[in-house]
Amino acid sequence: MSTHPWSGEPLVRLADGTVKQVSPLTGTVVWTVPGRANRPLGVPADVLRAVDPAQADRLCAFCAGRYRETPPEKARLVDGPDSGPVVLREVPAEALDATVARLRRIPNLFEILSVDYWRTNHGFRPSVDVVARAARYTATPAGRAHVLAILERRALAGGVAPTDWAAIPEAERLTRAVDLFAGSHDVVVPRRHLVDGARYDDELAGSGTMTPDEHHAYTAFTVDALRDLYASQPHARYVAVFQNWLRPAGASFDHLHKQLVAIDEHGPQIDRELARLRVEPDVFTTAVLDHAAAHRLVVAENAHAVAVAGVGHRYPSLEVYSTSAHQLPWEHTAAEVRAVSDLLHALHAATGVRVPSNEEWHHRPPDAAEAMPWRVVLKWRVSTLAGFEGGTKINVNTIDPAALRERVVGALHDLRRQGAIAGMLLGDECSHRLGVLRYTDPPA
Ligand SMILES: [Zn+2]
Repeated sequence: MSTHPWSGEPLVRLADGTVKQVSPLTGTVVWTVPGRANRPLGVPADVLRAVDPAQADRLCAFCAGRYRETPPEKARLVDGPDSGPVVLREVPAEALDATVARLRRIPNLFEILSVDYWRTNHGFRPSVDVVARAARYTATPAGRAHVLAILERRALAGGVAPTDWAAIPEAERLTRAVDLFAGSHDVVVPRRHLVDGARYDDELAGSGTMTPDEHHAYTAFTVDALRDLYASQPHARYVAVFQNWLRPAGASFDHLHKQLVAIDEHGPQIDRELARLRVEPDVFTTAVLDHAAAHRLVVAENAHAVAVAGVGHRYPSLEVYSTSAHQLPWEHTAAEVRAVSDLLHALHAATGVRVPSNEEWHHRPPDAAEAMPWRVVLKWRVSTLAGFEGGTKINVNTIDPAALRERVVGALHDLRRQGAIAGMLLGDECSHRLGVLRYTDPPA
């Protein structure tokens, strides 16, 4: 045969079983070669240590017993006095241990873009509210001690000698406090490091070990943080939201957390998508969701979201799409956020806590005119890019989308029997309806 088997289709299976994919959004080229798909995925713990119950909430700086090792928190979710959770904002240092935070939102001590970056490059000035908050927090002995300790940790990590730091008068050190309150790189941390009652330190609490209700609270709390970062950093053009799980996926802590990072560009991925949307506004419908339905790659579906095995990812990837006409995450109704959360939670549960993963949120930059759906991609970091990928830009992925779909749908059926996931349609039960996304609908 003289013609190349590659036809420009996003997904082609060759006669020998090799699957060639190209991402309809990014052009990423991925091959899956038969025989490489059945390797075990999980990373076993190197050394298993018994958990001392007295230390179970002090395993890392994100743990509930070490609230003062992170910068002053912006918000926490606690159990309300009657029913349902309550968000407390700006808890003073004296009150940090008065409640148990189910979720905390804290500034990242080592920001990708510092407050100085925004100040120097954009003329950013912390708002009057933020300046007043820093002053209130440091007005008490406990708050002042907390802030000075965090500032010292940051200074020392930045190469300042301990003696030089100690030589700076306290009042001068405290002038830097406002930067701890004015940052736009936040971390959202759930309470547990290990699952409740864990006996060994490898029994990590992940997104998938939460209940659907807990995961919904985690998702909604993160959506609120996203809205707030856009409001508080006027020079932000995009806020990246992601969750790195386990060290091979880039996490510096084994304690579950999401990060939100405001940046002053959209980034090349979003810009490429916006360029494509200008030509083809319904590309997410035609090239992704309709394609997934036609190729039986739909994994799960509920009233306001659909999950598919993704095509053209260098790592095996699952994608959750909001089917809502609302685009920005915080414009979604509570039921719509819940729907996205339920599918994402189920995918994490099916993935298991031993598989390193990146969870990446994508949404329309608020300053962009093109309609774009809210979607979340869950990547299994089960392979390492090497010389072949670097030299050819052909990525060898170990699991093709159809195999990924089979594997995950099977796991979801087991989880449903155990009552571990919310109600949803799975695999063949899904509608496989075309045109399921409503992001291009005119605003109501
Ligand atoms: Zn921890």
